[in-house]
Parts: sequence; C-alpha cells; structure tokens
Amino acid sequence: MRWTQSYIPTLREDQSDAELISHQLLLRGGYIRKLAAGIYLYLPLMQRVIEKFSRIVREEMNRAGGLEITMSVLCPATLWQKSGRYDKVGKEQMRLKDRHEQPMVLCGTHEETVTDLVAGEIRSYRQLPLNLYQIQVKFRDEIRPRFGLMRGREFIMKDAYTFDADEESFAVTYQKMIDAYYATFRRAGLDVIKVESDTGVMGGKAAHEFMLLVDTDAGEETIIVSEDGEYAANIEKAEFRDTSKIETESEQREMETVDTPGAATIEEVTAFLKVKPTRLVKTLIYMADGKPAAALVRGDRELCETKLKNTLGANELAMASEAEIQQITGAPVGFSGPVGLKDVPIIVDPLVTKLTNFVVGANATEKHIINVNSDRDFKATKVADITEARPGDLAPEHDSNLIAKKGIEVGNTFMLGTGYAESLDATFLDADGTEHPCIMGSYGIGITRTPQAALERYYDEKGIIWPKNIAPYLVELIPISMENEKHVEAAEKVYAALNDAGIDVLWDDRDERPGVKFNDADLIGLPIRLTIGDKSLKDGKIEMKARSGTEVELVPLDDIIGAVRGLAEKLH
Ligand code: ATP
Ligand code: MG
Repeated sequence: MRWTQSYIPTLREDQSDAELISHQLLLRGGYIRKLAAGIYLYLPLMQRVIEKFSRIVREEMNRAGGLEITMSVLCPATLWQKSGRYDKVGKEQMRLKDRHEQPMVLCGTHEETVTDLVAGEIRSYRQLPLNLYQIQVKFRDEIRPRFGLMRGREFIMKDAYTFDADEESFAVTYQKMIDAYYATFRRAGLDVIKVESDTGVMGGKAAHEFMLLVDTDAGEETIIVSEDGEYAANIEKAEFRDTSKIETESEQREMETVDTPGAATIEEVTAFLKVKPTRLVKTLIYMADGKPAAALVRGDRELCETKLKNTLGANELAMASEAEIQQITGAPVGFSGPVGLKDVPIIVDPLVTKLTNFVVGANATEKHIINVNSDRDFKATKVADITEARPGDLAPEHDSNLIAKKGIEVGNTFMLGTGYAESLDATFLDADGTEHPCIMGSYGIGITRTPQAALERYYDEKGIIWPKNIAPYLVELIPISMENEKHVEAAEKVYAALNDAGIDVLWDDRDERPGVKFNDADLIGLPIRLTIGDKSLKDGKIEMKARSGTEVELVPLDDIIGAVRGLAEKLH
C-alpha cells in the first residue's frame, strides 16, 4: 500500500480525551476516531490490525474444532426472557422496538441465540460435541465507557459456544479452548496468564479469564497470584488463608454497650476502645435487589462485593445510603451491628465466627457493644467467605504468599453447565434414548480490546511498537526523497519485490521531509523500516532497522526479501 493512496491521518498533538497511552497512540497514529462515547470508527490501519488478529483467532478456533458462523446482532427480547437474563443484565443491554412494536435487544453476547439455534437441530448424542463461533460486533451500554477500544459500547468480540453430551467430553472441549487461547495470544505477541474468575451474569459453574498484566491504569482488574505462580484468581473470586495473629480468649465475657463519643471509623473506634482492628467487626449494610442485607467482616479486612453478591444470589448490589442505614438500623452510618438487627439477612465471614469477645456497632448513635460472640449474641443467616484476599495472605491450598497485580482481561472462558440448554430446550437423546440437556461452554476474546491492550506494553516515547503478527504492515518503506528519481526507482523495485513475496509493506510515497516521515513511521509503529538514501544506494544497498531496536543494517537490494524475513524472525 502506498501512503498517498491510504488514509492515515496522524496527529502531532496529544489528544486531551485520551487518558491511556494506548488510546492516545491509536488516535495519534490515525488508527481510530471517536464518533460518540464508547463508539469508535476503525480507520484503514486499525482495520488491518483487526484483520490480522482475527485471522490468528480464526486459525486457532478452527484448530480447536470450532465452526465459524455469523449470528444476528438483533435478537427478539423473548429469547432473553426465556433464559431469564432479560431482568438480570439491566441497563447494559441496548433495547429497542421494531415497527410492529416487538421488543428487541442488541446482543452483547449470544448464548440465547446460539442455544436457540441448536435447540431446533440437535437430536442425538452422535451430533455432539459441537463448537460454533463468530467474530462480530457487540453492543453493551457500559456504565463507564472509557479508554478507547478497551471499554467501548460497540466493539468486536470473538465468541464461541460449545455443546457436549457429558462431563468427560466437555472437559476435553474446555481444555482445547484453553490451549487455543494460549496459542492465540502467544501468536499475537502477548504473554497472558489464566486466572480463576467469577461467573457473573453468565451463570454456570466456573470460569477463567486471560489477563495481560500491566503496570498502568489500563489494568482495570486486580489479580491475586501466589508467589510461586501456582495460584491465580481475579480478586472478585480469590480464595485465601488468613495468617493474622488473632488473640482468642477461652471464656466468653458478658456483652456490654459502651459509649464511643466521636468514634465511628475503624481507626477511631479501635483507638478509643484500645483494641486491635482484628478485634472489631464491621457491619456493612447493603441493598441487594432493593432489599437490605448485613455483611460482617473483620475490622482489618475488606469486604468483597462480588462474593457477597453471589452469596446473596443478587442481581444488583449497592451499599445502602445513609438514609437507608438509618431506617434499617435505627442509627447513622458507623454504628451498625448485628445484635438485635431484625428482618435483615446477616451474612457472616468465617474469619468473624472464629473471634471471641469482639466489638460491633450498637445500632445506636455513638455506641458500640463489646464482648460480642456470634451464635450467642446473634445468629448468622449464612456463614460465607465474603472477604477480599490481600497480599500477605496464603494461597488457599498451599503455602505460598499471595501478591496483587493489575491486568487487562483480553479473553475468558465459562463452564456454563446446563442452565441455558434447559431454559432454551437444547436437549439430545443419549445412546439409551434418554433425553438430556447439552453441557455448554462459552468463550470470548476481545478482538478490538486486545490489540489496544498490547499497546499498553509495546511503545516508546516516539510511538507504537507493534508485535509483528498483529502489525497492520510488517514493513514501512521510506525513500528519503520522492523527487530523487533513483530513490523512487529503487523504492518501486523493493516495493514490488516485497509484494511479490507476500510481505505486507506500506510505502511512504508522500512528498514530505524525511523528518516528518520518520516521525510518522515511529508513531504508527510498523516492525521494520527500510530507508532508501543516497549514501547506501550508491553501493546498491538500503538501510534496514527494527522499530524496536537502534541498529541499522545495510542490505544489498537483491537480498532484501531474505533480510526482511531474517529480521522478522528475530522480532517479537
Ligand atoms: P469486563 O469484565 O472487562 O467488563 P466481561 O466479563 O464483561 O469483561 P465478556 O462478556 O466475557 O467480558 O466478553 C468477552 C471479552 O470481550 C472480554 O474478555 C473482553 O476482551 C471483551 N470485552 C468485554 N467488554 C468489552 C467492552 N466494553 N469493550 C471492548 N471489549 C470488551
Ligand atoms: Mg463487562
């Protein structure tokens, strides 16, 4: 491709609406433009990146036994009502009505559509396993669209869905997909890690996320990993063993209400009562689907909202407002406690039930109760792990310290179980003629998010440094002067040779100063630069340089294909 025939509107200035370096670089490099919040247009260079990455994804999906299909973006709302997700997904789902007033949705994911498709056709176990996937646009009215392509409202996803007859077969299918994911990201130049994750609105039994670890603000996910790398989970899900030294007393003392004037926070109360935070129990009041619930965690620990939401089986969870807390507990924020709390489910963390003679709020202004013991003084509706793991804890099943990292979720895999198959009638007959629901899995990869995520890692102060397999072109060809016939002639030759050899090349044939071209070349970040200038040309050579390096190699014009291939081999 010749630059003058493409559309690459690079920008000199920093763009004020881009917080992330990767977003900034895509805008400045002329890859994307914003139409509205979370809605982007992909320009020719981005389109090629998307195509390159999609091709890798396709090849690996096909290798894993996937069959590519395309499902409609629009879906009748009735299917989502049938699966029970219509009420669960909330405002993230874009909804509309057609001219016949039929309610429709724009799909943010396609479990309903694909299960309905298969429900009509699969009859026998002989037709399973089945693995269907698509690469297609998705709509989600994200509450906070941001960071460019990272969290858009319209974006491209690869979504795959598998159907198996039994658990054994499903385990094989799931593993094939995991292997395909590792292979996909490796080929795209990304070393991702697989972590255990929450199943969220997808439902199902277990799930994994593929994370690209980054040190920047782009890392929206917190991941808890053991130092030896054996355990890795999203903080929303991470299990742990607490190693804090806790003083327990053998005798349960008598409960007593005490005044704690001016003390409402953990620090204030523990200072005032001269107890350690491990002796205090926080009672947090939440609204779960509009109904109140109390959650008890040890004073030195943080509550994990996802764990609480799952424990309560709630679709929506939010901290109660000051007014709600006053109404539910009879006291302002800071004095909530489980003792005497009526008609409110009380979820208690196991770290709390281990304590003796602890301190809680008294549900009265500026009062706390000391020497409280669970079971004796209040009854837990449920004891469940609702505490967030933190650095310093031990891994759940072996003695390795946990540490926290930041990551970008680039893909995920869900073990869906039989929920969708049951609600949408995707059943089959086994060898004995007995009917069963299919065991399903669903698997996503962010086709537009992943390349941007890569740029959080691969850039320098001058611009992008694409991993070679997802770069829009492998080579950028720059003749120093388009007015010098010799330069142009050599460029024509090299351009033709590269094209003939099937090597993607962008020829900067603009009549611009070399400085402008070099700056743009560094900005758009193609892996290999070939420069044609007088000095080398007189020896029949041109300059070759990797975007990621500083070394300039002089390559004879006749050897150019071999040299480019050789350098590419060594690149990331
Ligand atoms: P997140 O936790 O980041 O919101 P998710 O759990 O909602 O992601 P899925 O529904 O499983 O994600 O989607 C599969 C993949 O699609 C994700 O791993 C991610 O790469 C990509 N993705 C999800 N939401 C967006 C979005 N708003 N913009 C761009 N890509 C997205
Ligand atoms: Mg999401």
